Amino acid sequence: MNNTISEGDTAALTILLNHNMTVDKESIMDTLEAPERALVITPHADDAEGGCGGTVARWIKEGTQVFYVLCTDGGKGTSDPELLPDQLASIREKEQANAATLLGVVEDVVFLRHPDGELEDSRLFRGQLVKAIRQFRPNIVLTTEPHRFAAHQHRDHRMAGQVALDACFPYARDPHHFGEHLKEGLNPHKVETILFWGAETPQVFFDITDTIDLKITALKQHASQIEGRRADRFVRERAERIGSLAGVLYAEGFRRIDFRR
Ligand SMILES: [Zn+2]
Repeated sequence: MNNTISEGDTAALTILLNHNMTVDKESIMDTLEAPERALVITPHADDAEGGCGGTVARWIKEGTQVFYVLCTDGGKGTSDPELLPDQLASIREKEQANAATLLGVVEDVVFLRHPDGELEDSRLFRGQLVKAIRQFRPNIVLTTEPHRFAAHQHRDHRMAGQVALDACFPYARDPHHFGEHLKEGLNPHKVETILFWGAETPQVFFDITDTIDLKITALKQHASQIEGRRADRFVRERAERIGSLAGVLYAEGFRRIDFRR
């Protein structure tokens, strides 16, 4: 239990907020330490750095092993009709690999290469995420919020978040779901917690004051998508806004589902 908020706090900062998004120090209910292993499931290249890059960088500095799964090839992420999807997909894979390396992700990014805009809640996709969970055995999975109501969001984000949630529970946990994994030496695995970035009502906040520069540098690797100076300003303004809710300079916020409860 942590009863104070301070900039010098080196433990991961976790605050449960009330619904009107104001900070009530009495509402601090829990702490979430840097996990041993975390798995990032991102619909497109660049989503993860924007959503959880500061938290991931912080955890890696604290010893967490972080793994990345990129769901789509990102081949349609352009307004240039002359840039073909295959060409863009190849560029975006390299950008994602560079960003992950900068953050300190050690293992190669897993590229599922679903066509951009065509993620489906299918057995194929679910099985791929279940397999990644059984392979990397994360305590925490981070992915994109599937349920946003105030503004429209990309269909791939809805699909990735929902299928990642289902993959965690119950599919990765129970041996007869995708039982073929057992023959490949992959045992069932219980994820403890899933964190959704991009939530309209975040519940859990991490202080990223020490890692925001690294987050921005990682985000800038996605040069095909993001203009550098704009990324810098946007990320700082957003992190500052979230940080003001959490009582720190810069923060990232997440909705949380704990499977242990
Ligand atoms: Zn996206």
